[in-house]
Amino acid sequence: MTERRKLAAGNWKMNGTGASLAEIDALAAAHRAPGCDVLICPPATLLARMADATADSPIAVGGQDCHWAGSGAHTGDVSAAMLVDAGADYVILGHSERRADHGETDEIVRSKTGAAIGAGLVAVVCVGETEAQRDAGTTLDVIGAQLRGSLPDGITAAALVVAYEPVWAIGTGRTPTLDEIAEVHDFIRATLSGRFGAEGDGTRLLYGGSVKPSNAAEIFAVSNVDGALVGGASLKAADFGAIIAAL
Ligand code: PEP
Repeated sequence: MTERRKLAAGNWKMNGTGASLAEIDALAAAHRAPGCDVLICPPATLLARMADATADSPIAVGGQDCHWAGSGAHTGDVSAAMLVDAGADYVILGHSERRADHGETDEIVRSKTGAAIGAGLVAVVCVGETEAQRDAGTTLDVIGAQLRGSLPDGITAAALVVAYEPVWAIGTGRTPTLDEIAEVHDFIRATLSGRFGAEGDGTRLLYGGSVKPSNAAEIFAVSNVDGALVGGASLKAADFGAIIAAL
């Protein structure tokens, strides 16, 4: 079986100004040799400064979105190459907030994923069901369709991370049961293996949705959970540090 190094990824969303870089300095000071990969995705305005602040640490930085085009008339957007230029190694794509707030379809996410990987970034592609879909018993159908639609052909496993984020668990304090997380992660692993062959075994699968220091260890022990995508609890060095320590 392929060894997958675990990944603790923080999504700061639309939070943080220059003053928040103190949290990164504290995180870097406390985790000089973490037992997992560590990633923070700040707002685009902080990316270059955060990349400078983490240059001598193992903490990687990433974007929260990118455009599918390389450049051009797309006011307000940033391209994958611009993220690389600012110091990013990763980019989150298809987050449920982007899908809901900006009408991002699987097709758009697929184009962005291709552009990101083509520019040399690792794409963290998010999938997840709504509460209504879980209640209707269609969770695996929804996740399967999102994976089919959002992942381009010809990508390498190492350039892809898949984050399973039930929409109803994001920012709510609610989480699926450990068995429910295992069911979806095993399904995603099988789907990737079916699509990419043995290569699919190298893709890391993150759980996201109300991960916090008190539940991190039990979630990380679940089958095919290779880390977490963390929103609220990634904003403070102490909280995110405790999650890193649990991996
Ligand atoms: C997220 O938005 O990716 C997320 C998982 O948020 P939270 O950890 O705050 O639920």
